Amino acid sequence: MEFIDLKAQYQAMREGIDARIHAVLDHGQYIMGPEVAELEERLAAYTGARHCITVASGTEALLISLMAIGIKPGDEVITTPFSFIATAEAIVLLGARPVFADIDPATCNIDPGLVEAKITARTRAIMPVSLYGQPADMDEINGIASRHGLTVIEDAAQSFGATYRGKKSCNLSAIGCTSFFPSKPLGCYGDGGAIFTSDDDFARAMREIRVHGQSRRYVHTRIGVGGRMDTLQCAVVLAKLERFEWELGQRAKVAARYDALFSGRLGKIGRTRDRSSVYAQYTVVLDERERLQAVLHAAGIPTAVHYPVPMHMQPAYASYTEPDACPVALDMAGKVMSLPMGPYLDPAATTHVAATLLAAIGEQMPSRGDLLASSP
Ligand SMILES: *Cc1c(COP(=O)(O)O)cnc(C)c1O
Repeated sequence: MEFIDLKAQYQAMREGIDARIHAVLDHGQYIMGPEVAELEERLAAYTGARHCITVASGTEALLISLMAIGIKPGDEVITTPFSFIATAEAIVLLGARPVFADIDPATCNIDPGLVEAKITARTRAIMPVSLYGQPADMDEINGIASRHGLTVIEDAAQSFGATYRGKKSCNLSAIGCTSFFPSKPLGCYGDGGAIFTSDDDFARAMREIRVHGQSRRYVHTRIGVGGRMDTLQCAVVLAKLERFEWELGQRAKVAARYDALFSGRLGKIGRTRDRSSVYAQYTVVLDERERLQAVLHAAGIPTAVHYPVPMHMQPAYASYTEPDACPVALDMAGKVMSLPMGPYLDPAATTHVAATLLAAIGEQMPSRGDLLASSP
């Protein structure tokens, strides 16, 4: 069993992906070819944001966004301690300081009730992460930001396609950033990412920063980076978009099946009715994680931990805050475990994972009657 089965996905979409790749090989415009603009138009329309700017990776999306809003040394950006390191990395690369506000243990997303107390005269932005594919509490965060004149950047690297109160993730705040890393819900075959905004000035700045700060060829109006997403990767995402909604439906079915099998027997990441998750991860919450990972591994079931150490306790980031600053994140880091997930995971495999895990914690599998009663 694979943790995320990218080979099955390729087999399912092989013709479309191959055709798109060959079209690029035939026209030969490997950098900023026509597929780049085509993808940007499709993704902007999908999210409802006015602009989409494709970039070299999710990390680059965060960095270019912070550069575009003018983050400089000494500035502070409030973010969650419980994310992939790229979230805090983009902040410190610009000489700014990440200020960590602890998470809500139910969802593992930043707790908006803890954000306002972290605001100082130096605060410039808030960067929530829509972890595991479920949007953060964006309305509450936008409200705080507008009261204090701050910019909100959603790190939506795991949540492209999710909805929140009728809107799409990536279009829930001034700026949204996503990643097309192969194992993300919408992945390419290398590195790639995208920024979304409806602000024309931010969009222009982002487009310039992406190409070394050029406003015209060899006219460098600002400091930039080499941050383009290449045409071949855009072509892969275009091909994968054809089945994306179907895939999200399949992910939701796998999650619903896990939910029914675990119901009342095992803790899991809580979900809120006003938003949907794209299940970048299906994550359970338990004690004795190491033992259970070993039991599953022995049964041929891969698992992963997102994330074993909160960012504020990583060696390179320890100087930015006190180690006991975010006790909830530290507690959850010891308890979360992600299970195999993906649109091509069949029901029998899902049942095998659940049966193995429940047996290992001494719980019975639900009966057929229980399953029918708990199905939505
Ligand atoms: C994957 C990820 C990133 C980085 O994306 P890359 O494309 O790998 O650079 C940033 N933030 C979060 C929350 C992620 O999951």
